Amino acid sequence: MRELPPTAGLPLHLGDLRPGRASFAERMAEWLGVAQLQLECSGTAAMVVALHAMHRLRPRRDEVVVPAWTCPLVALAIHRAGLKPVLCDLAPNHFDMDPGQLDSLCGGRTLAIVPTHLAGRVADVDAALAAAQRAGAYVLEDAAQALGAEQDGHSVGLRGDAGFFSLAVGKGLTLFEGGLLLARDAALREAFAASHEALVRRDARMDWQRALELAGYALAYRPSLLPLVYGRPLRKALAAGDPVAAVGDDFGPDIPLHTVSGWRQAVGARALPRLRPFLDATRTQAWHRVARLRELPGVTVFDDAPDQRGTWPFLLLTLPDADARDRAMSVLWTAGLGVSRLFIHALPDYTYLRGIVPDTPLPRARDFAGRSLTITNSPWLGDAAFESIHRVLRQSLL
Ligand SMILES: *Cc1c(COP(=O)(O)O)cnc(C)c1O
Repeated sequence: MRELPPTAGLPLHLGDLRPGRASFAERMAEWLGVAQLQLECSGTAAMVVALHAMHRLRPRRDEVVVPAWTCPLVALAIHRAGLKPVLCDLAPNHFDMDPGQLDSLCGGRTLAIVPTHLAGRVADVDAALAAAQRAGAYVLEDAAQALGAEQDGHSVGLRGDAGFFSLAVGKGLTLFEGGLLLARDAALREAFAASHEALVRRDARMDWQRALELAGYALAYRPSLLPLVYGRPLRKALAAGDPVAAVGDDFGPDIPLHTVSGWRQAVGARALPRLRPFLDATRTQAWHRVARLRELPGVTVFDDAPDQRGTWPFLLLTLPDADARDRAMSVLWTAGLGVSRLFIHALPDYTYLRGIVPDTPLPRARDFAGRSLTITNSPWLGDAAFESIHRVLRQSLL
């Protein structure tokens, strides 16, 4: 029995786990070609620290505009920072926010707009910048799924005022959990550092827990062991009729805020030289497969504009309607081939977000949630297995 992961994570080598210490943020800043990075214990924590800092600089503003179809942790981070999420519906058949609606949602209470680089694709930051300039708001790029993605030869995260990456399992290079925060201007960088001082403490128990979890990842992240740690809980959740748990989106309100141990940083620093060749190989693999999927009528596959060079953890696609998507998933979700869904719902449809996000009409976000699916871009998905996925998709379009 083999099971493929739903995203292309960079596998760790056992040698990465030897004792040592490193400054991961410094190495990573050099790798990305940016002036400075701030390490936090998760992408969510990075977002809390960033919003806390922005709110201290502009205290009369308390709203944060996000796409209505995004990671539920984004809403929890905004709530944790004492702010209110404002949901923007999507552009037609796209994961980006609708620019017209974005404009109408922004005003004197808007603290920040969060364009979101999903699936390694580069989001429309310029539309967010235009709306932010009119409203006097910040632009905070959610690049949780896009570490290594570039536009015009520069890393994502700095076209706006600030941005963050996630180092969680499943998002590429991982410390099991981690986040990186970057800002364009020194003033905002200093404010982020001050927020870190105010909010983040060392936690010896979390250091041990995450160290064990990271070692567990190094051991179990391989097709022979993923049936145990990924496939079994997935099938159990689906059998129980709980797709939110199946994709791991069943988050609690607790957001840990603590430092990242020097050892975990060293593990990440040792894996880092392998990231560029890994991203190049997965990009080449993705190009062929995107072209192949484009042959399917009514299927949209997201890729890069000529000035963009994204990363390819998985392929994000929409099918023409929800029935076709559900027909495909009924075969593929439990086939062990790394086919999955990204976010199950538009944000108001997660029961645990009631009272945190407003319940507004979001026809396009709900439509996108109903028609989208993802195909892993792990190098472990061979051409024959990819073709079997292609066949199921073609059959489900009838
Ligand atoms: C995963 C994710 C986050 C949160 O990052 P964590 O490191 O898991 O806390 C935020 N936004 C998006 C789009 C994500 O996919």
